[in-house]
Order: sequence, then C-alpha cells, then structure tokens
Amino acid sequence: MSDNRIFNFSAGPSMLPLSVLQRAGAEITNFGGSGMSVMEMSHRSKVFQKIFDDTQEKFRRLMGVPEGYKVLFLQTGASGQFSMIPLNLMGRTGKADYAVTGNFSTIAAKEAKKYGTVNIAADTSDCNHTRIPTQAELKLDADASYFYYCANNTIYGTEWQYVPETGNVPLVCDMSSDIMSRPVDVSKFGIIYAGAQKNMAPAGLTVVIIKEELAGSELPYTPLMMNYKTMIDKDSMYNTPPCWCIYMLGLMLDWVDEQGGVAGIEKIKAAKAAMLYDTLDNSKLFTCPAQVGSRSDMNVAFRAESEELNAKFIAEAAAAGFANLKGHRNVGGMRASIYNAMPTEGVEKLCQFIKEFDKNN
Ligand SMILES: *Cc1c(COP(=O)(O)O)cnc(C)c1O
Repeated sequence: MSDNRIFNFSAGPSMLPLSVLQRAGAEITNFGGSGMSVMEMSHRSKVFQKIFDDTQEKFRRLMGVPEGYKVLFLQTGASGQFSMIPLNLMGRTGKADYAVTGNFSTIAAKEAKKYGTVNIAADTSDCNHTRIPTQAELKLDADASYFYYCANNTIYGTEWQYVPETGNVPLVCDMSSDIMSRPVDVSKFGIIYAGAQKNMAPAGLTVVIIKEELAGSELPYTPLMMNYKTMIDKDSMYNTPPCWCIYMLGLMLDWVDEQGGVAGIEKIKAAKAAMLYDTLDNSKLFTCPAQVGSRSDMNVAFRAESEELNAKFIAEAAAAGFANLKGHRNVGGMRASIYNAMPTEGVEKLCQFIKEFDKNN
C-alpha cells in the first residue's frame, strides 16, 4: 500500500480500499463538474438523484435483489433495526423467534421483548458463543412473526455457514459484518440489514433489503421515522438521507465490481481467512476460541495462554504497523477483522508476523 497507510484490523468502522478513498478525495470539492461537493448537495437535486439511483442499481445487481424487494438507505445504525424490526413485524402474530449467538443478537432479542413475545430459538451463551447452533437445534415456532439471527458474530468471531430453514416464517438477518463477503439468495429472506461501516461504506448508513409485502403491520405507536412504510413510499427520501455515505457506497460497489462481484470477493476472503487460520492452527502459542465449523471469515479471534503474551503481541504488532488487534473485552486476546477491504497483503504480512512471534516467544 502507499500513502503511509497501515493495516487496520479494526472491527468497525474499518478499512476502505485505498482506490475508493483516492477517488473520493479527487472528487471532494467538485463532484462531476457540479462545482460542489456531494456533502454540500441538496438531496432533491438531479445530480444527487443520479448518485442515489446508480447506487441502488449497482447494489441490487451485485446482491441479486429480486423483484418485490425494496432496498432502503437509512440512518438508524444497525442497532436502530433492533427496534425497527419488532415495531414493524411483531404485529403479524405477536411473537417472534430469536437465535442468540452473540452480543448483538442478545441486545436485539432483549429489545424485541418490549413489543411482543420472544421465543429464544437457540442460545449459545453456555459456551460463551464459540459456536453456531445446528438446524436441528433450532426451536422453531411455526406461528412466529419472523425468525431473527445474526449471520456473523463480530465480537465472538463465529459465522453461520448455512441459512436456517424456517418454512413460511420470514427470515430476518443482521449481516452488518459479513454482507457482500459471500453470495446470498435474497429470495430466502424477509429482511436483510447491515450497518455500512464494516464492509460497505463509512458509518452513518444502514442498508435494509425488505420484502415489500412485510411492511404495513407496524404497531400503532411506531414512530414515523421507524416505519418501513414511510421509507418505502418515499424511496428512502422522506427526509434527508445520509447523502455522503450513499455516494461512498456507490464508489465501494464499483470496487466490488472490479473484484469480480460478490463471488469474486468470496474467493479472495476465503483465501485470506484460510491463510490466517492455518497460521494460527500451526502455531504453538495461539488458539482460536471459535469452534471449527463455526469460524468467521471476517473476524478472526485468537489468543495466547497468558495475558502477558497477549499484551506483548498487541503492542509489538501495533509497533510493526498492524493496528487494532486487541480483542473485545467479552472474549479477550486478539481479534483480526479482515473485512473485504483488507488487502491480501495485509493478511500475508500479519501471518509472517505471527510466525515470527511464535518462534521468538
Ligand atoms: C457493528 C454491529 C452492529 C452495531 O452497529 P451500529 O451501526 O453501531 O448500531 C450490529 N450488528 C452487528 C453484527 C455488528 O457487527
């Protein structure tokens, strides 16, 4: 990499590709001959409408979003969806199924209880969320309004390797930390949502893919801005959308295209993750808490036996240009977040560093 940039392994907000940042930089004071920055534009202007429409088109194409689904560009943060989902969907039958496999699904299930009956369809807290439940373990209610799960557990470093089968119960999925890292069949889902700041764009944008027929059963006290219908009817522009982030998402989607689309990204990310897990599995010092078969390709949690060694590793890694490798306090040790924008070179260099450290300690 150039520009004296370091390899940033932050769990989020996280790295953006250098070429995306450079393009944004080149266009920052005068976008496309408009004489102004995208940051200064009216969201009702023709110039911005074109950015919006192009970004929608690219996103739908790259994600394979079918007819009957709307893509919303919202400002709620992924956490806002923890409320928005039950507010809009719980009214269907008054109850919902939640798979609790980490920090964010725990919060989502707790929030949903305010609005109806929550059935915990699975809960992996007994093993500190080191694994993903199997399909056979899921306690499903055929009358649930929806089934909720989080595809990738950012903090614990586990990832669902299958899409749950729930019959006629709509699937709702938080894909904040692995969206666009592997192809998904959108038609299997009722709602897919993701905060943009891990794999897609700067913080401030939340993308929601919603099957349109699911909107319209909101609870009567649903706030205007938390009603999917409001945003569907006004094409995400009931009020001012996060214009700059939408533009940045558009640049990022061009970059995804250059990598061979989501299928191309999947190959690259699988190779990066395999390289890192192999290095850790072949080391004498390090272990990964996530169980084989449940390991995340996006957030690789690992640790050494002692706290001194973990601290030493993090400090020496930081000095060598590998930033933000400290694990979350719930897990301890280290965590390398290797989202789509982390270059293969960054993972290769980290693996070399791990091998050296393993040898010298
Ligand atoms: C980061 C993250 C969130 C929270 O995102 P915010 O936009 O900060 O609310 C929720 N779910 C997952 C899986 C995440 O990784």
